Amino acid sequence: MKYPDIILKRGKEESLDRFHPWVFSGAIAKAEQAVEEGDLVRVVASDGRVIGVGHAQVGSIAVRMLSFADEAIDADFYSRRLAEALRMRQALGLASGDSAFRLVHGEGDFLPGLVVDVYGRTAVMQAHSPGMHFAREVIAQALVNLPGADIENVYYKSETTLPYKANLDATNAYLIGSFQTDVAVENGLKFHVDWLKGQKTGFFIDQRDNRSLVEKYSTGRSVLNMFCYTGGFSVYAMRGGARLVRSVDSSAKAISLTRANMDLNFPGDERHEAIADDAFRYLDQIGQGEYDLIILDPPAFAKHRDALRNALRGYQRLNARAIERVAPGGIVFTFSCSQAVSREQFRLAVFSAAAQTGRRVRILHQLTQPADHPVNIYHPEGEYLKGLVLYVE
Ligand code: SAH
Repeated sequence: MKYPDIILKRGKEESLDRFHPWVFSGAIAKAEQAVEEGDLVRVVASDGRVIGVGHAQVGSIAVRMLSFADEAIDADFYSRRLAEALRMRQALGLASGDSAFRLVHGEGDFLPGLVVDVYGRTAVMQAHSPGMHFAREVIAQALVNLPGADIENVYYKSETTLPYKANLDATNAYLIGSFQTDVAVENGLKFHVDWLKGQKTGFFIDQRDNRSLVEKYSTGRSVLNMFCYTGGFSVYAMRGGARLVRSVDSSAKAISLTRANMDLNFPGDERHEAIADDAFRYLDQIGQGEYDLIILDPPAFAKHRDALRNALRGYQRLNARAIERVAPGGIVFTFSCSQAVSREQFRLAVFSAAAQTGRRVRILHQLTQPADHPVNIYHPEGEYLKGLVLYVE
């Protein structure tokens, strides 16, 4: 099968020769024939050399490269890519039984536009590109056929992740199988995962390692988990032996989810309390030194570059509150999941917050996303989760 050629302007193959997986619209000289949203295309340098194949898209990213070879993108291709992704998770000891793990992390698994999270026997699949949307049935089939994965159900959840201008009308639905159980296991702790109504694919798998670190620091401490969502950090803090744990989120649904997850793991344990409130308001009224471990894991303050300044101000304001109020010798875990905010910018915002309080603050750990959210070395944009663990005198 030969896909229509997209021919690049002279010199515009440079970043692709370094395996960067995006072709920007400004790099294209011409298309062999009219190309539609989501079509498979072959990318060719101005001298006629074939660079590879990818999914075409309308917008500033015009092609997302699937392969740097001239090959067919078919069921066999997806099966091979998924097998490579699974092998890596197996090597990490993540893919077993009823565990929760990310099987496909877009460019990080050489499948731009595709995210697959696995919760036991259910895979939740998200397309971020029209091309992946059109390939959804083939990919779903490849998932259930994937040797060693035990996937029986595939839920497709792309209503909000596809470019809305593409008008694809993707409905969230099971492509294969149906609902079995919503409980998945992470490091021996159980969690309800609501892929039907929850955010993203239902659970923030990307905080797994950071939750483990919170567990380590929780012994004997009073812990405040701001923006708790499913209560992930709180459950780990409880297992870590926290003296008390308070979970705060402005969403009532998040609070009931947190309570349900606490009941799954620590039923009737009175050390925990969940509170529906606005984070900024709640932090304003906590007592000085009331908590000796505070976790700040807010939603992405900057979804786009133009929101950056306000986002950085938001991070500074939030962190200043926590650093100011945490007990002497206390610890603050602070995160940003905004892709538009760089590691340096985030650190600068936290630095400004610390300086504002005048307290002595040291960085104990610099955190990032876990290994099942790998960063393709040729695509540094794939690094998005940033965290700092602060020790406050
Ligand atoms: N820490 C969570 C993920 C946080 S997602 C985890 O480990 O899974 C961000 C959460 O922030 C959402 O649940 C959202 O409801 C909540 N949120 C957003 N704005 C808020 C605000 N102003 N105050 C409190 N919570 C807020």
